[in-house]
Amino acid sequence: MQVTPQRIVVLGTGGTIAGRAASARDNLGYKAGEVGVDALVQGVAAVDGFELATEQVAQLDSKDMDFGTWCALARRCAHWLAQADVAGIVVTHGTDTMEETAFFLHAVLAPVKPVVLTGAMRPATSAAADGPQNLADAVAVAASPLAQGVSVVFAGAVHSAIDVQKVHGYRLDAFSSGDAGPLAYVEEGKLRVLRAWPRGPALRNANALPDPADWPRVEIVLSHAGASGAVVHALVKDGVAGIVVAATGNGTVHHALEAALLAAQGQGVQVRRSSRCLLGRVLPQAGDRLPDADGLSPVKARIALQLELMP
Ligand code: ASP
Repeated sequence: MQVTPQRIVVLGTGGTIAGRAASARDNLGYKAGEVGVDALVQGVAAVDGFELATEQVAQLDSKDMDFGTWCALARRCAHWLAQADVAGIVVTHGTDTMEETAFFLHAVLAPVKPVVLTGAMRPATSAAADGPQNLADAVAVAASPLAQGVSVVFAGAVHSAIDVQKVHGYRLDAFSSGDAGPLAYVEEGKLRVLRAWPRGPALRNANALPDPADWPRVEIVLSHAGASGAVVHALVKDGVAGIVVAATGNGTVHHALEAALLAAQGQGVQVRRSSRCLLGRVLPQAGDRLPDADGLSPVKARIALQLELMP
């Protein structure tokens, strides 16, 4: 009996992995989001028993990621995940906001099947492009029965959507899971699993998200030496629904900024405290007057609060 191969669907959204420069020696002066996903997968050897399908969902520099693209991507992921012959999804994406998109997809899909984001630090035209290996590794993870849920595969490591952060602006090994550590390594197409894939219920249904224009406005403010309440006052005046403060250390906030945040909270604005520290998390204490962000980084806490405040 002939066995039908399972499919891995590769969704293209742009980024440096799809970037094009005038010279193969130029790793900086390129335009992101130029090469189509069909071309990107051409150099990737298929995993035995699987075939690759592609779809171009967007073609942008991920510094410009927007809610409309997120909705479209989440809906296409939901569509493909529902197909019985699809084993997993790979999303090619710019590195700048990859951790945000990964967390967003985790929060609205909470998939059992793997959804694997990957990208590159050097454009597709580079003499030493890192995209092809990252993409091959991502396909291997999407095809693996050991993988589940949303992850980021980069430079041979598999990071969870919850912990992953871009930590370097130039090096090829640009992502870290901080003190949580990676979920696994990909070695010659095989997974060496280190810890369990985080699971949890979706915060929202990908197919029932409000129109992007109606998403509640949540902004991030930074606590720093000499901070004031001016930005918070301006945001409240402008009708902000929520504010995430990137606080110092274990969630401490400059007294002037804290006073403004408490006043905002008193007026119905939802405030969450995360830390501007790269490692660790805010540890809540009895009597905290501003709620903590449950261990999320500022950019992820912002997404979680937006989803929480959606109509
Ligand atoms: N600016 C690019 C992007 O995020 C950077 C990258 O992909 O590495 O799309």
